[in-house]
Amino acid sequence: MSQTTGSDAATSTNAPAVPNPDRLTLVPIEDRAWFELLSRPDYPAIEQQIYDVGACENPVWLSGRTLLVAVATGEIVSSWSSAGTPFGAIPLRCMNRRATRCASCSRLYAGDAFQLVRAGLSGGKGVPDTVAGHPLVFATLTAPSFGPVHRRPNPDRPRDVCRARRGKPRCAHGVAMTCQQQHEPGDLLIGQPLCVACYDYPGHVLWNAGASALWARMVDFLYWRLARAGGIPRPYIRRTLRIEYVRVAEYQARGLVHFHAAFRLDGPEDRSQEPPAWATAELLADAIGQAASAARLRLAETVEIGAPVLHFGRQLDARPIVLDTGLPAERAAGYLAKYVTKGTEDAHGADRPITHRSQIAALARTEHVRALMYSCRTVGALAPYEALGLHRWTHMLGFGGQPLTKTRRYSSTFAALRQARADFRSTQPPSSDGQETLRDSLWRYAWQGWPSVTIAEQAAGVREAIEHNREVARGTADGRGAV
Ligand SMILES: [Zn+2]
Ligand SMILES: [Zn+2]
Ligand SMILES: [Zn+2]
Repeated sequence: MSQTTGSDAATSTNAPAVPNPDRLTLVPIEDRAWFELLSRPDYPAIEQQIYDVGACENPVWLSGRTLLVAVATGEIVSSWSSAGTPFGAIPLRCMNRRATRCASCSRLYAGDAFQLVRAGLSGGKGVPDTVAGHPLVFATLTAPSFGPVHRRPNPDRPRDVCRARRGKPRCAHGVAMTCQQQHEPGDLLIGQPLCVACYDYPGHVLWNAGASALWARMVDFLYWRLARAGGIPRPYIRRTLRIEYVRVAEYQARGLVHFHAAFRLDGPEDRSQEPPAWATAELLADAIGQAASAARLRLAETVEIGAPVLHFGRQLDARPIVLDTGLPAERAAGYLAKYVTKGTEDAHGADRPITHRSQIAALARTEHVRALMYSCRTVGALAPYEALGLHRWTHMLGFGGQPLTKTRRYSSTFAALRQARADFRSTQPPSSDGQETLRDSLWRYAWQGWPSVTIAEQAAGVREAIEHNREVARGTADGRGAV
């Protein structure tokens, strides 16, 4: 952001760059655009703009001005404006959380997610440190099977090949329930059905669409299990303790979401309060397992699909987190945060919304994903399931939930972390010299993206440099044995 004092906002506007034609002939044709950029008198300001947004891949540009007015005299104490900047506008980060859309902003988002998860486990960001002493459990809840799929070999069994875990050698359609291969990681076949005709596509997309509601049902069950364990009538359990959690959704190769979550028990009033002594981490871990097994969500019946009942898969894991051995808070936070910048990439889905059926063929990378996306459109058009929003979430294979959700009291919020950064920025000059001032801002959207391919390439170079420096810093820290 260009900052000026008084009314000289426009004086730093540079004349358009005119590269010296003699020097240009010495530059290979493919480098000329780059040479022209570097020889612009305002190039340092352009580079500063790139750094200001952390070399965001697709910045949003605003034009306008902010005035700081002294309340007592009505005088303009200082002003900053986009008028003096290289393109007459200032860039802001795109804030896209997906790594496939913006490497820079997705990293910022992952950093915030890490802070949120960690604060809930060990305090900080407004959360009392004493939460580290509360019962904490780390859990993974998966989806059930909707048909046999190609799978990776079990690393513990060297001669394991891809085959359906149980059942007959051939399905009702005569398709072999094994392919006898040992799929390498990254093989597009992993997660695809052995027999497409056997695979329950409507059940699959309905599960993704209802997964968040099923989760909410599981949390209700969890309160009831804890009530039973503590010998407390169900209506009173929320007056005895509170279950706080942060949950991250991850796509498996087969295109189903599963959940990783950190649970914490608090007292009923506040997160600084401990839960009753009988509510231990071990008891909570057992109760999560029981609640996840018992949770059922009945969807409306239709002639086409019948009456689907959603439930979690058998592969579930819940174990207490013990914070006083090593650094599990950091590791657990890092483990959860690493999923939030992903969309459906691991399931070969699309990273942007699909607004019409005709886009599916081009955007889906596998037959399986194509079939799932078509199912989202078809099932989503049935009246009882319209409210699930399957149309809208076709690119997410039906799942419309957030990548990271949490209970209100678990930790801080993304908004609060962003505000803290914004406050830090706005504490920079222009100064008001201790006077009471009013801020008068007038900004409007100008465009999105870097103004030229060459500048976008320059930004990509800066991104690489930032990444390289980060790795060097990390290496130095590791070398010192620092944490
Ligand atoms: Zn960005
Ligand atoms: Zn296979
Ligand atoms: Zn079959």
